[in-house]
Amino acid sequence: MSEVKTVSGSIWADGFIQLNERDRLTIKAVYGTQNIKDSIRGDKQMIEAKQMLNFALEHFMNEGRKQKCKRCGGSGKYIYVSVYGENCFDCGGCGEKVKQPTKRELEKMIRDNPDGLGIPATV
Ligand SMILES: [Zn+2]
Repeated sequence: MSEVKTVSGSIWADGFIQLNERDRLTIKAVYGTQNIKDSIRGDKQMIEAKQMLNFALEHFMNEGRKQKCKRCGGSGKYIYVSVYGENCFDCGGCGEKVKQPTKRELEKMIRDNPDGLGIPATV
């Protein structure tokens, strides 16, 4: 059994740099810039960058940054029922998606809270 949950150092950094700039800023805003610098150097055992992004987006969604899902128009359902069921893939059937902060909003968050929002990034 291998532990696939944790990656560190260059693997983490590889995942991080593959994200777009807004996604990278989203991670920095939530987890803190120093944490991210340490991660890039490989000093810490981090959860995967993609997973961090999902947690960060979930955090913003819980804060009430939501918008109607564009794919299903907020109904959570597809018009066509496929073998996969009728729930919308994009929103999982809840009809809402996170409204990701803009680049500008994220840069302000990072300036105001360089240490992030206190959510642990290590495993
Ligand atoms: Zn949807």
